[in-house]
Amino acid sequence: MKIAFFGAGGKAGSAIVARLEAAGHDVRGIELGDDPHVAGCDAAVDFTTPDAVPANVRATLEQGVSCVVGTTGWDPAELGALAAEKDLRLFVAPNFSIGAVLMMRFAGEAAAHFPRAEIVELHNEAKKDAPSGTAKATAELIGGDAAIHSVRLPGLVAHQEVIFGGEGQLLTIRHDTTGRESFADGVLLALEKLGDLPPGLTVGLETLL
Ligand code: NAP
Repeated sequence: MKIAFFGAGGKAGSAIVARLEAAGHDVRGIELGDDPHVAGCDAAVDFTTPDAVPANVRATLEQGVSCVVGTTGWDPAELGALAAEKDLRLFVAPNFSIGAVLMMRFAGEAAAHFPRAEIVELHNEAKKDAPSGTAKATAELIGGDAAIHSVRLPGLVAHQEVIFGGEGQLLTIRHDTTGRESFADGVLLALEKLGDLPPGLTVGLETLL
């Protein structure tokens, strides 16, 4: 596929682009200040910032191209409606790592058997939004009002623990992303399935598994 990639030079973007190219895709990186020209591409991908992503997605949809978004900390509802109007797809996932999606699925299962849970999400200090999109999605999935604790430190990549407490027992479900190339599997899957999705907004890698 011919893919326009917003944020190709970023930490996540550069790791993902390398894997997309290795898989045979033709990737055109679009950096801050570049003309967001995507017409003629089969899809666009965005891993930028919460401030930049709405304009990038709008420009993409206006040019008739569907979009896969990993950027977190923004609300895609309005642009999802624009995508539906234009018969295009907007796929957004708070976490493109398959292990993280399984961690959320297992946490959802455990929640039925424990009265309380809290979430600890740990990310590199460069991450701008807190709590993480994955932590918010996990809290929603397990129901109740699980507190979320956010840690931002150098040395971290992306990690999350869901701690369930019951009488005389604790259950901890933990996922660690040790390298950003882990996100590429989810992006490759989303690009492969994009055309099969209904027009408009689809949220979450779990919808593709
Ligand atoms: P980062 O290293 O700061 O990368 C962001 C990149 O976007 C930088 O190269 C930046 O360029 C570029 N950029 C900023 N505004 C832009 C614009 N208007 N058009 C094109 N490019 C623009 O951050 P990161 O760690 O890669 O994370 C990026 C985003 O992805 C964050 O929201 C993060 O939470 C999210 N993320 C999601 C997942 C997931 O699985 N869903 C995984 C990893 C990261 P400059 O350096 O020139 O400003």
